[in-house]
Amino acid sequence: MKKIVIIGGMAAGCKTAARLKRLKPDYDITIIEKQDFISYGTCGMPFYASGDIDDFLDLAKTPWGMIRDDNYFIKSKKINIKLSCEAIEIDKDNQKVICLDLKTNQQFTLDYDYLVLATGSTPVKPNFPTPESDNISDFHDPLNAKKFKLKAQSGQIGSVAIIGGGFIGVELAEATTSLWGIETHLIELTNRLMPQALDKELSTLLENHLTKNDIKIYLNTSVSKIEKNQDDSLKISLNDNSQINADYVFLCLGIKPNTKLSQQIGIKHSKICGIKTNKQLQTNIKNIYAAGDCIAVKDLITNQDALYPFGSLANRQGRVIADVLAGKKSTFKGAIGTSSVKVFDLIIASAGLNEYQANTLNLNYNCVWGTFYDRPDYMPESQTLVAKLIYEKQTLRLLGLQLIGKGEITRYIDTFSILASNKKTAYDLLDYEHAYTPPHSGPLNPLNHLGAMAINQEIDQINSLHPLSFQQFKGYIIDVREQSEINEIPLDNANLKLSILDYHDKINDIPKDEQILVICQKGPRSYEVARTLINKGFKNVKYLGGGIQLLKSIF
Ligand SMILES: Cc1cc2nc3c(=O)[nH]c(=O)nc-3n(C[C@H](O)[C@H](O)[C@H](O)COP(=O)(O)OP(=O)(O)OC[C@H]3O[C@@H](n4cnc5c(N)ncnc54)[C@H](O)[C@@H]3O)c2cc1C
Repeated sequence: MKKIVIIGGMAAGCKTAARLKRLKPDYDITIIEKQDFISYGTCGMPFYASGDIDDFLDLAKTPWGMIRDDNYFIKSKKINIKLSCEAIEIDKDNQKVICLDLKTNQQFTLDYDYLVLATGSTPVKPNFPTPESDNISDFHDPLNAKKFKLKAQSGQIGSVAIIGGGFIGVELAEATTSLWGIETHLIELTNRLMPQALDKELSTLLENHLTKNDIKIYLNTSVSKIEKNQDDSLKISLNDNSQINADYVFLCLGIKPNTKLSQQIGIKHSKICGIKTNKQLQTNIKNIYAAGDCIAVKDLITNQDALYPFGSLANRQGRVIADVLAGKKSTFKGAIGTSSVKVFDLIIASAGLNEYQANTLNLNYNCVWGTFYDRPDYMPESQTLVAKLIYEKQTLRLLGLQLIGKGEITRYIDTFSILASNKKTAYDLLDYEHAYTPPHSGPLNPLNHLGAMAINQEIDQINSLHPLSFQQFKGYIIDVREQSEINEIPLDNANLKLSILDYHDKINDIPKDEQILVICQKGPRSYEVARTLINKGFKNVKYLGGGIQLLKSIF
């Protein structure tokens, strides 16, 4: 009988244990977890804090309503669970883990044939002074979610400052304002929210949406210190010497892999991304495996190590280790960082590289932008979304996609993720088969359109202008929107207004030797006119990526 010890009792650890026990019922499996609970849905915590989910225990329920606690794992799965126990040392030569029972302060030792490190991650600590206060916390630990909710429920919190505008900061900003009506300040170091996922032009749409929902956003802003006021509220000093007062501060500064134990025994690590493993998730030390937030994931686009701390990946990695330990052929090939987040009624989704990252890697890339309906516009439920596709210029290989809007967004990012992970190109994006039914989809969907736009740009030279370059554009602007649309979103600097119905008759009015930019509401008409002009011998023509709908949210 093999002895398996798993350190960490959340997504990666519990998945490994549960599947391995199903495959090898005679294995003796023990999970060591330093908290006094296991296996709850961390990803649901923002919705618990917001009040959408009443009871914290709902985050730990099976689909049939049973609490997935230690008792459940011990009785139904015959897995040994040691709660409130911390693994403090690994003796790799003798294959033992030394543990400390945090309740009794007693040490004990567990032997293993195979050891799985599923130690997860911890929040990055602030690099500015913070006082001791019960009103400053991260949002990683469920105790903090519970504490905040109790305080919010009892009316103790009138204002919150969230430091860090990544996924969790943005989700929390909705949680604090939407149900509790708390004045919310969201402070972000870079020039945009969700900088890992979005480039500035799409992030601006998110910023506008949050501002509309009464969240105060501070970009390009760092915190220099937090101090306590006399009434116990907190004073947050910013780099521009201004201050914000808040009753509660959330530190959402990112996470780092938990590698204290693995560092001690010479396991190989990637510099910032955690434990290095092979495709079977084996470390370089015999009989030790690792999964979840504590490991470096191979990025399938760049082939470099990446930190992808996602529950989806942790579960898949857990399954792979279980398979491998049960003697099955199974591998984890890598990921491209596919994610989505809902903020109020907006969905933001991304996969692969954003332009900032493509630039940093010195890739030869290009982009296209589109504003689309997610299903035929005649359907009453149709929703608008904005997309940005990044691809390699020479090969048209897919590098990254960002989506923001309402409707069927997650479906698109998932499809893109499969294609980009498999090194597919814009041709594959244009060609892939999808189900068309008006309540859910158009005959061509946004991904098909983006594929076509990339091909048009690289092969036929029908180029789009980067929306962020619009203000610097010095040439001749042709607005091909109808008057009603111009009234809705006026554009003062158009040199010529043309209707799509009669522009063919007016082509001679357009100067041939100028740089020309064609603009419409969402993109398709300006693309069509740009192509016509190029066919007629105009040399220097572009259309505005994403149309004026995207532009109006940027400037
Ligand atoms: C607020 C929030 C929202 C999120 N939302 C999403 C989402 O929507 N989608 C998504 O894909 N991901 C989301 N994530 C990320 C996701 O929760 C993590 O990727 C996932 O939990 C990682 O699982 P894990 O098992 O690797 O690590 P963890 O969940 O961090 O678990 C590791 C466990 O190991 C224990 N441990 C560590 N060291 C020791 C030791 N020495 N001895 C004993 N025990 C130890 C820790 O106590 C911890 O319980 C979210 C995360 C947070 C915080």
